[in-house]
Amino acid sequence: IIQIQGLWTKFGPVVVHEDLNLEVQPGDIVSLVGGSGSGKTTLLRQMLGLEHPARGCVRVLGEDINGCGSVRRQQLRNRWGMLFQHGALFSALTALDNVAQPMRELRGLPEDLIRDAALLKLAMVGLTPKDALKMPADLSGGMVKRVALARALALEPELLFLDEPTAGLDPDLSESFVSLIRGLHQQMRLTVVMVTHDLDTLFALSSKIAVLAEKRVIAMGTPEEVIALPHPFIQQFFLGERG
Ligand code: ATP
Repeated sequence: IIQIQGLWTKFGPVVVHEDLNLEVQPGDIVSLVGGSGSGKTTLLRQMLGLEHPARGCVRVLGEDINGCGSVRRQQLRNRWGMLFQHGALFSALTALDNVAQPMRELRGLPEDLIRDAALLKLAMVGLTPKDALKMPADLSGGMVKRVALARALALEPELLFLDEPTAGLDPDLSESFVSLIRGLHQQMRLTVVMVTHDLDTLFALSSKIAVLAEKRVIAMGTPEEVIALPHPFIQQFFLGERG
């Protein structure tokens, strides 16, 4: 569902990715891990078409994200959802309107249908119709994340991108958010690509882990496969942090 071949990303003289390759299969939950500044967020931005490769090709949902025109790219954007690290809700809109907004941008849907669909999405993440009328400032941190997730899923995407999904949540909230994502992954037949620093989230969710180091993906496989690799960076990263 995603193929990245020979990707180079440069910011002026700084080379972030050098001949990086990565393939994501449909249905996978792939986590991108690596040290600080290893280029995880930039790689996610490449998949979203928000950065331009200096060289190489990023194919998402069968299309070269940089080679297709802007209309085609917009169509692709309707087939993926993105959960930003801090939720990034519109503060002047209710939870319901936050979820309805991407639906409204697609023309031709009657308002009552949009409202019902948005309420349904909010119910899927555990929010009641009463919560739906609240403003983001009146919601708890955990609820804001849930609304943001409902919004990312508003257009029934095939692909879901998550940037640090459990950042800022306490361990209990993290755990319930992780089970929510796991349930929705199954229910909606999603493919998920995520960046996370949290090893509990990583091991609870990932079907595959891609390790970024030395400007490329140095290893990719199931969590068991990856942690068994004798590479010093990998051993330090997983076992060092777990103590
Ligand atoms: P972290 O785990 O700390 O969030 P990361 O692995 O996500 O790091 P990136 O945020 O992708 O790393 O950054 C990779 C490198 O690219 C860093 O050295 C960063 O300073 C640089 N970088 C990212 N975006 C830009 C930009 N727009 N302009 C210049 N340099 C950038």
